[in-house]
Amino acid sequence: NKMISAVQALGNIRVFCRCRPLSNDEASAGHTTVVDFSAAKDGDIGILTGSSTKKNFKFDRVYTPKDYQVSVFADASPMVTSVLDGYNVCIFAYGQTGTGKTFTMEGTGQNRGVNYRTLEQLFKIVEERKETSTYSISVCVLEVYNEQIRDLLATEPTSKRLEIRQASEGFRHVPGIVEAKVENIKEVWNVLQAGNNARAIGSNNVNEHSSRSHCMLCILVRAKNLISGECTKSKLWLVDLAGSERLAKTEVQGDRLKEAQNINRSLSALGDVVSALANKSSHIPYRNSKLTHLLQDSLGGDSKTLMFVQISPSEHDLGETLSSLNFASRVR
Ligand code: ADP
Ligand code: MG
Repeated sequence: NKMISAVQALGNIRVFCRCRPLSNDEASAGHTTVVDFSAAKDGDIGILTGSSTKKNFKFDRVYTPKDYQVSVFADASPMVTSVLDGYNVCIFAYGQTGTGKTFTMEGTGQNRGVNYRTLEQLFKIVEERKETSTYSISVCVLEVYNEQIRDLLATEPTSKRLEIRQASEGFRHVPGIVEAKVENIKEVWNVLQAGNNARAIGSNNVNEHSSRSHCMLCILVRAKNLISGECTKSKLWLVDLAGSERLAKTEVQGDRLKEAQNINRSLSALGDVVSALANKSSHIPYRNSKLTHLLQDSLGGDSKTLMFVQISPSEHDLGETLSSLNFASRVR
């Protein structure tokens, strides 16, 4: 029943806003901060749009530049756990390039992000539940660039186009994609590194390339309850989206134009899907982009969605910050 699932979906969409610190370069250039965090504890954030004007936004959580990875993950962790109870989950980071999407999802060696912490927690709970359930966990790492899917775990290059198909039980999948079975957190780290390395191949500027493609990690969980015998299959997507910035008109020509149009198309398709879910619309337009089509199982129905909207504190990014916060408000 569509209506009921849409109502459930409303309660299953969370939006967390995270602001990165002012960089050293910005600070030494004298850039000021336009963000008011005085009510951040209540999920309120204010953006100073002028000397005496302020625009307020409300989210489920607001993180200041001082908040640590561990506290951000603590708020996301109940959603992560629910994948072991059979729910499909999607966590994605949206925002302008340079606002901390990769920092939140991937993190750094010293400051591991949501992706690593998620798998770490899954293995921990699997161990705790071993008397009552058995789990099998595998991961896929892929990239969507210019509306094309690339398997970052493929060991051999393939000219075959990867397409999305629907399996008999309704699950969407990409035939031919590598599913790496992982038994422990150490193996996970190796798989994530392999994916990262593959991402760099074939692009002369890795940072530029990653800001224009969506990096997607899919965790597949197969569970068997040893008492009831019940088997479930669920999916958790962790997505570091392409940068949401609009390009200067002069920059946009040729290949760059095509890239920009594809990024625009997929991000607006994502916004349309999540806002259609939030508005209980009877038609959810999943098929408008590869991104939303891939995520379809984990967006809507009884699945759980968490969006990180990432922003910069700098006055120089005010326009993009407002545009990201407006996007995020629309999906809430
Ligand atoms: P994006 O992926 O959105 O382009 P990055 O994650 O690469 O942005 O972040 C840009 C820079 O800011 C990186 O050097 C990153 O380490 C730093 N950064 C982002 N968020 C934070 C944060 N919350 N605390 C400390 N440094 C951060
Ligand atoms: Mg990034």
